[in-house]
Amino acid sequence: MRPLVAGNWKMNGLGADLAELAALKAALSGRPAGCDVLVCPPATLIAKAAGQAGGAFAIGAQDCHPRASGAFTGDISAEMLKDAGASAVIVGHSERRQFHGETDSDVAAKAAAAWRAGLLAIVCIGETSAQRDAGTANHICGSQLDASLPDDAMAGNTAIAYEPVWAIGTGRTPSDGDIAAMHAHIRACLVRRFGEEARGIRILYGGSVKPSNAAQILNLPEVGGALVGGASLKAADFEAIIRGVKVQD
Ligand code: PEP
Repeated sequence: MRPLVAGNWKMNGLGADLAELAALKAALSGRPAGCDVLVCPPATLIAKAAGQAGGAFAIGAQDCHPRASGAFTGDISAEMLKDAGASAVIVGHSERRQFHGETDSDVAAKAAAAWRAGLLAIVCIGETSAQRDAGTANHICGSQLDASLPDDAMAGNTAIAYEPVWAIGTGRTPSDGDIAAMHAHIRACLVRRFGEEARGIRILYGGSVKPSNAAQILNLPEVGGALVGGASLKAADFEAIIRGVKVQD
C-alpha cells in the first residue's frame, strides 16, 4: 500500500499562494516522494492548482454537494470538482460537521457523490476530547465510520482520515500507542464490513502533524499516510512531512 500525504488548506490561499505549489513541485521533481501527494486548496484555486501541479502531485477538494447539479446556490458538485482538475475530495471534516451541521448520512451521500464522479473520497472521522476522556473514542469512531461510508467502499475509491477533533490545529497529538490502537480498531471495523478488500484502504492520521512529528507518526502500524492542515500551507514544511514516509526499495 503506497501511503498518501494530503494537505488541507482549509479557507486559506489566494492566487499568490500558488507559488508554494511551484516550490513543492520543484522539490518533488528533484527527489521523488515515497508516497502519493495530494493538495486540497480552496475551490477557487483548484483549476489553477491542477495546472500548476502538472501531474507532479494530485489536487483535491475539501467538500462537495451530494447532487451532480441543480438549484443549490453556492454549492459545488463532485462532477464540477473533477472537471476543474480534482482527483479527490475530503468529506465529513470535523469543521464541516461542527460549523455546517453535517451528519454521518450527509457524509455518506457526499462519499457516494465523489465515487459517482470518479473521485477518491477521504472520509473523516474522529472523537472529541470529552468522548476520549469518557472512554468512548472507539465506539464513536466505529459508529461514525459505519454511518459515513456507503456500501461500496474499496481501496481504490476511499481513504479514511482519523482526526481526533481535539488534535486539529491545537499542537496536541494522541500518544503513538493511542494512534496505533485507533488505526487497528478502524482497520478491524473496515475488514468486518467490507472483507479482505478493506485491507488496502488507507487510514490517514490527521491532527497537528508537523515536520517534527511526521516520521514517527507515519511509521506507526496501520498509519497509511496523513491529512495535514496548517503545516501544508508552506511548501518547505509540507515537503518535510512528505519526507517522513520511508521510501521503499
Ligand atoms: C485538518 O484540518 O485536517 C488538520 C489535520 O489540521 P492541522 O494539521 O492544522 O491540525
